[in-house]
Formats: sequence, structure tokens, C-alpha cells
Amino acid sequence: MCRVGMFGGTFDPIHAAHLRMAEAFFSQCRLDTLRLIPAGNPYHRDHGPQASAEQRLAMVQLAIADRAGWLADAREVRRQRPAYTVETLEELRAELGPACQLWLLIGGDSLHNLPGWKRWQDILHLANIAVAVRPGFDAAKLPAALQPYWQQVPDFSNSAASGTIRALTLPPVPLSATELRHKLAAGEDCSGLIPAGVLQYIHRHQLYRNTAR
Ligand code: ATP
Repeated sequence: MCRVGMFGGTFDPIHAAHLRMAEAFFSQCRLDTLRLIPAGNPYHRDHGPQASAEQRLAMVQLAIADRAGWLADAREVRRQRPAYTVETLEELRAELGPACQLWLLIGGDSLHNLPGWKRWQDILHLANIAVAVRPGFDAAKLPAALQPYWQQVPDFSNSAASGTIRALTLPPVPLSATELRHKLAAGEDCSGLIPAGVLQYIHRHQLYRNTAR
């Protein structure tokens, strides 16, 4: 039985909290393959990522270079238009076949908004969802629409190919890409917060020098 995970994000830049989440995802879902999928560039660049899609992809590649089973997946970067999660999952499902366990990683805060995502029920037909929850997370407060999918199975032993939502246990990492872009623009030391190879890339390509968005 194959077990594949998808972790999408802007990754502008990828940082230590993303890697912590990815590690918990990989080990707790016992994945064979973890695909980190940087989002492509949005149509409107006003509030878009600072680094280009290719640069964000390159940074993901550098961050995971020595991790067996982890892949930087370029599909959203190569696409000419913004991708919805459901479309990316449809592609993955078509490639992997119906029996493969497919997992989507999302942050605990995003879970409450899931019923607003495009074709969210199709997402759950295509994949399971692993949620990186913060301490104090209360599943009883989830929207009623999500309750039927919620599973309290701590060891991920059930092998459903799709259709369940479960928590990952993860200590909180108080870090965001926004905060890191501010630190970089201010010339602060970000070692330990961003992988060394990524930090070198940022300096070499003079990214995040000015603005702090
Ligand atoms: P930004 O500050 O630019 O919004 P980010 O790091 O919060 O960046 P993304 O790069 O899109 O956001 O992150 C991908 C996913 O990782 C998102 O679902 C986001 O909620 C989650 N994430 C990022 N940082 C953390 C963190 N410190 N703890 C938990 N989840 C996080």
C-alpha cells in the first residue's frame, strides 16, 4: 500500500516550522513519499510572494536535498494559472491510482475554513487530511459539516485511501515566513530558522532585501 503526502504552501521562504510540520506528517502518517508543492504565482502580484515561483521551488529543493522520500513538486509552479488544492489532488490521484493512501497536510487554523474551499467534499473523496493542530484545539468546535470525517485514531492505523481527517501531534513553532522576511530585510541573523542552504540561496540571489511584506 503506498502512502503519499501533499504539503502545499507559498514557501516564501520555506522555514523551520514548515520542516517540523513536514517531519511530523511524514513520520506520523508513515508516508513513503512526501511532496512539497510550492504554489505558483497568483494573477495579481500586488500582495503575492516576493520570490518568484522558480526561486521558491529552488529553496524547497535545497531545504529537503538530503531527505529520502521527500520531493519538491513543481506542478503548481509550472502551471500557467493558480491551482486549487482539489485540482492538484485530482492529478495526484490519477497518477497514483485508487488504492494509494493520499494525505493532504493543512494547518489547524485552516481546518475551520475547509468548508469554504473549492469543492471541499471532493477533496475528501480524493484524500485524507492530516491537521497540524495547536494545543487547545477542540474538535468539538469544528463546523458540523466536518464532524463526520473527524477520526480520533491516534496511531493512524486505519488505512483508508481517502475520507478521514486526523490530527498530527506537533509542538507549536512560533515562526512565519512573514516574520522571517522582516528579519531578513532588517539584516538579522536567521540561521536556525531557515535551513543553511536556503539562507545561502537567499543571500546569493539578494532576496527579501527591502520590503518587508
Ligand atoms: P506567510 O507568513 O508568508 O503567510 P507561512 O509560513 O505562514 O507564510 P506558507 O508558506 O503558505 O505560510 O505555509 C504553508 C503552510 O504551513 C500553511 O498552511 C501555514 O498555515 C503552515 N504554517 C506555516 N508556519 C507555521 C507554524 N509556525 N505553525 C503551524 N503551521 C504553520
